[in-house]
Amino acid sequence: MVYGSGKIDHPCIMNGITHMVTGYFIARLFRRNPGKQRFAHDEFPVLFTAFAAILPDIDSSIGIPHAQATHTLVIAALLAVAYTAVVFLAGFPFLRKARYAFSQLLVLALLGVISHLALDIFTYYGADCSTALAHQYFWPLWNQSFHLDCLIAPMPPVYLLRALVEWAFYSPFLLVVLIYRGFKHKENPLAMFNPTAWLRRATGENYASQPGAIKIVLVLLGCTYIVIGVLEAVGVFLDVAGFLS
Ligand SMILES: [Zn+2]
Repeated sequence: MVYGSGKIDHPCIMNGITHMVTGYFIARLFRRNPGKQRFAHDEFPVLFTAFAAILPDIDSSIGIPHAQATHTLVIAALLAVAYTAVVFLAGFPFLRKARYAFSQLLVLALLGVISHLALDIFTYYGADCSTALAHQYFWPLWNQSFHLDCLIAPMPPVYLLRALVEWAFYSPFLLVVLIYRGFKHKENPLAMFNPTAWLRRATGENYASQPGAIKIVLVLLGCTYIVIGVLEAVGVFLDVAGFLS
């Protein structure tokens, strides 16, 4: 998908970190007080929702037009159902032990994909919005393209500007979650950024005793998360340096 002044959008790395971290914090908001937790594997929904939040961008990976089909509420909801079903069936003994209901995970997956669409409003089409096919969230009922510049006055199609606007929107949300969790549940906000603790808690208290394959998968997921963040930063840097224009 070409946006703005003939500039290629960043299909794979496009704000993936923002999407994932938003999903992470959404699930974190719903996380139970660790002291009174009912679930043994309390961090699992956080990981689950973080990945749900990048689900609509799977289109770039499977070779279908970016930001079209998977960026409609109808298809995104179906994706959330399919994702929940696959994860639920694949992890059935683990999830049953942790007492997660399919419906609980589905709600988190839906919140994840909806957060993705909400953040994607900060994309710029930069061309004739009446012919834009991307981000038509209410297709087939309403073919309005939900790009920022299709909703309000035209804005310069600059990737960095988009990232900044997105983070300006996003940072207060992040701060509210951190402060709320800190005061209400006495969580150390910085502990949320400790990848070792995050991975350990993602498997319950017994990360060390997990089979090697599960540890490798978790470490790979963690590394993917970090690599997406680095690519995101590189994308912004290249854009600023003018290599992408
Ligand atoms: Zn997207």
